[in-house]
Amino acid sequence: MATMEKVFAGYNARQSVLNSSDNPLSKGIAWIEGELVPLSEARIPLLDQGFMHSDLTYDVPSVWDGRFFRLDDHITRLEASCTKLRLKLPLPREEVKQILVDMVAKSGIRDAFVELIVTRGLKGVRGTKPADLKNNLYMFIQPYVWVMEPNVQPTGGSAIVARTVRRVPPGSIDPTIKNLQWGDLVRGMFEAEDRGADYPFLTDGDANLTEGSGFNIVLVKDGVLYTPDRGVLQGVTRKSVIDAAKASGFEIRVEYVPVELAFQSDEIFMCTTAGGIMPITALDGKPVNDGKVGPITKAIWDGYWAMHYDSAYSFEINYGQSKTNGVNGVNGSAK
Ligand code: PLP
Repeated sequence: MATMEKVFAGYNARQSVLNSSDNPLSKGIAWIEGELVPLSEARIPLLDQGFMHSDLTYDVPSVWDGRFFRLDDHITRLEASCTKLRLKLPLPREEVKQILVDMVAKSGIRDAFVELIVTRGLKGVRGTKPADLKNNLYMFIQPYVWVMEPNVQPTGGSAIVARTVRRVPPGSIDPTIKNLQWGDLVRGMFEAEDRGADYPFLTDGDANLTEGSGFNIVLVKDGVLYTPDRGVLQGVTRKSVIDAAKASGFEIRVEYVPVELAFQSDEIFMCTTAGGIMPITALDGKPVNDGKVGPITKAIWDGYWAMHYDSAYSFEINYGQSKTNGVNGVNGSAK
């Protein structure tokens, strides 16, 4: 059973090893135009349309305790996002996977945040057919990122339902394409901060919940889990929540979720690759139920982290063998 204490104790122990590493790549490594560089030195061309027009898509898988988690699910979503945007993943999927595994091995990072970005490239779509453009791929790996820090998770964080901004409508920006057009989400974060909370929940402007700044939302009412199906990214963590809920015998409904239900919920949690299952125990300044992390949230939390050791969802990285040669002047051997 993966309890919070056990999961975080293991993580903290691995973090201390990482922090004392003298491997120059232990703080991160990037793959830019076929070249590996330490993350702090990674640069993108100014004229890349990803930067100029946010003409890109991206994905974020993770590595936990030396194992890649649901990598195929992330690459499948990335390829689907590319297709919707008329982009093409510049390398075959297997090659992308091999490079990522090799990067993680070289860095020695055992708990990693992994990002892949596919941009339109140096030339925009005006006047050129998308198929004639050369798309760019950027990849990097850094130590695991927490949207909610481990020390907050046992008691839970605070959220608000944003009043000053709504989630961009799916008819404007398709949220199933993972994108970096974060204008609404950043405004939501400002409002949360102004109202003394940590996280914004955005609505669809029609009294339904959507998602927040980098996470999906799950409500629990009378033993049933509810998560919005529209106006949201189809999160891979949300998929894990669905799997964990079914494995524990809980009903989970993916449907319209009225904001009103959030105020009547027994439990609330957020979910994302960078942080996992993140309990919310205060909403709009009031405790959610008794203000404690609830039993269903705990069960999903435990199930989620246990999945990281299940070979149906994850595979082990061999840190002893790194296939590509040195990294732009530094010795990239894994420690
Ligand atoms: N929603 C948004 C807007 C996100 O940016 C993210 C992740 O970054 C998620 C949801 C959660 O997705 P996943 O569970 O695949 O990390």
